[in-house]
Amino acid sequence: MGTLSIQDIQPLDIDGSPIIIAGPCSAETEQQTLDAALALSAIGVKVFRAGIWKPRTMPGGFEGVGDKGLEWLQLVKRETGMLTATEVATVEHVNAALAAGIDILWIGARTSANPFAMQDIANAVHGHDEITVLVKNPVNPDLELWIGAIQRILNAGVTRVGAVHRGFSAAGEHLYRNEPQWHIPFDLRRMAPGMTILCDPSHIGGRRELVEPLSQQALDMGFDGLMIETHCDPDQALSDSAQQITPEELKSIKDRLVIRSGTPVEDELALLRQQIDDCDHELLAVLARRMKVSREIGQFKKTHNLRVMQPQRYQNVLKNRLAEGERLALDPDFVKRVMQAIHEESVRQQLD
Ligand code: PEP
Ligand code: MN
Repeated sequence: MGTLSIQDIQPLDIDGSPIIIAGPCSAETEQQTLDAALALSAIGVKVFRAGIWKPRTMPGGFEGVGDKGLEWLQLVKRETGMLTATEVATVEHVNAALAAGIDILWIGARTSANPFAMQDIANAVHGHDEITVLVKNPVNPDLELWIGAIQRILNAGVTRVGAVHRGFSAAGEHLYRNEPQWHIPFDLRRMAPGMTILCDPSHIGGRRELVEPLSQQALDMGFDGLMIETHCDPDQALSDSAQQITPEELKSIKDRLVIRSGTPVEDELALLRQQIDDCDHELLAVLARRMKVSREIGQFKKTHNLRVMQPQRYQNVLKNRLAEGERLALDPDFVKRVMQAIHEESVRQQLD
């Protein structure tokens, strides 16, 4: 049997349309894990997630409970009959999770960005055709890297493979914790039409009030399901507290979600509009960052007794921006108008 390519991947046979995977960001205690699972099972969720090895940006924080969390996931399976899912990032994680009979392994965004780690994981799951692997997009917006990560798992003979869109990190302050850049999962969908692609609104939004609108948006755009972080007491959660919702909140969201059967034409238009929205979010975030720097410059000029208006500097900036605009095929009059508006606001900020 030859190796599967991403265009041949078949949908996962996980219950639910949409598929809902829910559970805490992290398993913290046996009780917290079981409470979440019981509450989720009672509202019809069939797949339970909990991270036990947590990739944290800074050392010293809560890094997960480790191997003992596997026993809690086994308990969840026994008590509720739910499928269990956890994140793996190393060969040791994979071996321990496979030995514990975990049903679904997911690869986190920091790991799918690293081909060496992906290859190690692929080698560790080699031949385990009973396992389901979900590959989250890499932290950076690189479709090839995402596809490469998926292909490594396929090359290992694992056929139950799906993808999870969790947004892409960007510098500066943004509306979202991770920019959705919906065109990237959409391109993945075009290349792998049969593959199950889920959306993780929790890590995209980073805030609980964004979970519902992002979930609806994802369903409108044809995602096959959602992975949503759920905790019985989100404010006390040891990781990702701001974005977790309670099982009750998940139930209300589930009840309100509208499943639309969009035509391809509508989907195409929705995607284009979505890209406009993404661009506008980026524009606003960049403008906010620029004005912040302007205010710092204003402060600096005040401290050093410099004039706010320095016409020669502005003329140079404008000249450079017009040349840059031309390379990007932007209309010079338009570039001039935009730059003037930004400059005026910048000066106003500096005079404040
Ligand atoms: C998670 O699912 O808890 C997680 C760490 O996700 P990501 O890899 O998307 O950051
Ligand atoms: Mn999390």
